Amino acid sequence: MSVVILYITDRACTLAQRLKGLYPDAKVAKFGPGVIPGLWEESRNLIFIMAAGIVARTIAPLIKDKKTDPAVIVLDEGGRFAVSLLSGHIGGANERAREIASFLGGEAVITTASDVNNMPSVDLWARDNDLVIEEWALVPKIGARFINNGALRVYTDTGIKLPDAFLKTSDPGLADLLVTNKKDAYSAPAACMPGGATQYPASACRVKGQLYLRPRDLVVGIGCNSGTPADEIEGAVRGTLDKHNLSFSSIHSLATIDIKISEQGLAAFAEKYGFEIAAFTSDELNRVKGISKSKVVFKATGAHAVAEPAALLASGNGDLLVPKQKIGNATVAVTKRLGRTKERKGGGMKENDSKKRELKASGKIYVVGTGPGSIEHITPYAQNAIRKADIIIGYDTYLDLIKELLGGKEVFSTGMTREIDRCQKAVELASEGKTVAVISGGDPGIYAMAGLVFELLKDRNALSVKRDELTEKANESLDALRITHYASRPITVEVIPGISALNACAARLGAPLMHDFASISLSDRLTPWELIEKRLEAAARADFVMILYNPKSRGRVEHISRAQEIILKHRSGNTPVGIVKGAMRADERVVISNLKDMLDHDIDMQTAVIIGNSKTFLWNNLMITPRGYENKRQ
Ligand code: SAH
Repeated sequence: MSVVILYITDRACTLAQRLKGLYPDAKVAKFGPGVIPGLWEESRNLIFIMAAGIVARTIAPLIKDKKTDPAVIVLDEGGRFAVSLLSGHIGGANERAREIASFLGGEAVITTASDVNNMPSVDLWARDNDLVIEEWALVPKIGARFINNGALRVYTDTGIKLPDAFLKTSDPGLADLLVTNKKDAYSAPAACMPGGATQYPASACRVKGQLYLRPRDLVVGIGCNSGTPADEIEGAVRGTLDKHNLSFSSIHSLATIDIKISEQGLAAFAEKYGFEIAAFTSDELNRVKGISKSKVVFKATGAHAVAEPAALLASGNGDLLVPKQKIGNATVAVTKRLGRTKERKGGGMKENDSKKRELKASGKIYVVGTGPGSIEHITPYAQNAIRKADIIIGYDTYLDLIKELLGGKEVFSTGMTREIDRCQKAVELASEGKTVAVISGGDPGIYAMAGLVFELLKDRNALSVKRDELTEKANESLDALRITHYASRPITVEVIPGISALNACAARLGAPLMHDFASISLSDRLTPWELIEKRLEAAARADFVMILYNPKSRGRVEHISRAQEIILKHRSGNTPVGIVKGAMRADERVVISNLKDMLDHDIDMQTAVIIGNSKTFLWNNLMITPRGYENKRQ
């Protein structure tokens, strides 16, 4: 997504930099009327942090069309309001304004009527269902009718699922919207015409103000003589569709024989409308049964027929709506695709489509720190990463603390000690191209998941080297296949910091970490106890303030009492000690004690213990370690 953020004042510039947390690839530029015309063509999202009047005056001469104009969002310098000014629906300005407001904790200002009235908007519904809007000028009128009547009447012969506020009608004459590939929904189907005629009346009556939405479900098979110009091919296609009451806007793609793929006229016609061409070999075409054959075509191409079998193959063996028609130098046949997919070249949606593909191509792991517990202490950037992830992986207790952010997401959770399983799962999913958020409480790089993710990726790298050797040697071995799968895609990792227990607990206690400190985990699950003792001893001797994580590892009381014993060898029994349980959570408990009495208080696995240095003092039941300002102040 291309985003440009424009500012005038220093304060706006600071806000622009903050927004880079939401749009890391955004370009931040100083506003000047001269820079806007270039950006207008280049960028899909323009965010202005300035007065709306300046923006309105600047962009007025550039505004053309809601299908192509970029999204324009205006923000006040305080970041309190994100105004969706232009291209709210198709351009995405409403979506951007909402994103920005939620990121900054402000309010999105949305004025499009369907949003205000909580109704589906016709243009977005069309976009999401890959329907082509035939007459854009009718969209606001249909929207107004929708809002005034509280419902829309829709005629469709496609089986598409309609939103609740759309009422289905079987009479095209009563419909506001018509979803069909029939050029004219009023014409009788061929079977009902006298004598089964296929010619439709040219001037069937239409009610004024009805909007046609076209499903892209037609495949046009084309055969042509060498050198047939694009105009002639287009004329043949349009003529055939008209004659059979089918809409040109419903064309999904073209199909032909492989030797015609570089035929200039055909390529130019496809290019003009952004149609993809599916090409088949003569063998493939000849395998299609029940096709009328032509000796001339066989002589020229090796295929008994082109247009009909190519259209049938490309449509996934769909219905043949129009059998082969020979018009001048071209032959045209039309089929209806089985199933519908959204991916299609052209049609103004290129950027979105290619973005989807890009996301699939490489996996992403966000290793997210969610802070000590409450939602307010998770950074907006981390919240956004969780929103962007397809799958959330974490330890039950931490996921529980952030459940409001997880609505509707796929979640993989395990017990606390199964962190290898969790990280392994993350790497596997990212190998499949997924975006995964691995959740750690506090900061993900402090006694948490970030290191393990990198260790596994390092192993995976080694595996991918091994894979190359293995595939050379034992291409078929099951192991080689497993490794190929596991090591197949590139994975990017982003570590997103969080407020660690040391920050949260220190804040609750006052300012105990003002001077050099050592952080020591008393857990001997992954570290030998002798090493932990050695570090306790060294830190105590060097008069570091100490923060003890995992003070009751596996419920073992002796760890914390042994730590106390070691520290007491170097520090007075009156040294202030802060004990914080569940900092920034609903059950938070803060205790100030001292080194000799600290064990009289409840210390468990949700607790961190801060031990002051020889200068740490208590004041007003707060624990403060001086930095040395007392000498400066005198
Ligand atoms: N990554 C985490 C630490 C994980 S180790 C972080 O940066 O905070 C788990 C230990 O952290 C717990 O045993 C406890 O000692 C400490 N801890 C985590 N959250 C805490 C909180 N809200 N209050 C007090 N201690 C906490």
